[in-house]
Amino acid sequence: MRYGIISDIHSNLSALEAVLTLARRGEVEEYVCLGDIVGYGASPNECCEIVRDLPVTVICGNHDVAAIQPGREIWFTPAARACILWTREVLTDENRDFLAALSPRANVAGAAMCHGSLPDPDFYTTTPEEALLSLRMMEGPLAFFGHTHFAEWFCHGGEILVPEEATRPQGGVCTLEVGYQYLLNPGAVGQPRDGNHQASFAIWDTEARTVEILRLDYNIAEAQRRIYAAGLPENMALRLTLGI
Ligand code: ZN
Repeated sequence: MRYGIISDIHSNLSALEAVLTLARRGEVEEYVCLGDIVGYGASPNECCEIVRDLPVTVICGNHDVAAIQPGREIWFTPAARACILWTREVLTDENRDFLAALSPRANVAGAAMCHGSLPDPDFYTTTPEEALLSLRMMEGPLAFFGHTHFAEWFCHGGEILVPEEATRPQGGVCTLEVGYQYLLNPGAVGQPRDGNHQASFAIWDTEARTVEILRLDYNIAEAQRRIYAAGLPENMALRLTLGI
């Protein structure tokens, strides 16, 4: 089975469309979405509707929860808060119900799926020591996470006391060796922050035992045009060009 692993779409329709076009050509059979479909960007309803129509397992991210639970936005930066308040206003009832039904965790073909970390969906996993918190909770050899918007993976096993970290802002292939544990982040579809402005996602091939992180160009100008038209904070548009 070939799974497309997508995360942190953040209402960026142009990026989502580009990723799905390429993933389809790569014969992805099913998808997993690691949360944050909405927030920051200007196309929350379109992105929810596209994800709902995929053959997909979806978990919720902190922005998805904040979009439907008033009060959660107090933890956000002022700009992120402005975006989530706008999102809450424009979401359709169907999409609100869709987000409300999502769980914070899932298991797909033996792999654990979470937004930020296995112990806490809101936790940012950025270092090998922080990766250990999830690795210790894993029942199998493989887990995926998002939330940081960085494409990378952590490998743990054997005599290694701390996980080895491999950042992959230009993409790359992780081969899943027997006897090791892997914690992988496919990067962000809609708002990469690892210095590469290209949309990021991964393809997990269960037979080949590989996870490939792919980066690709998308129509950033269109995503920015929508952000300006919606009256969202300018920084949400500017950062897309920089990949931060
Ligand atoms: Zn996010």
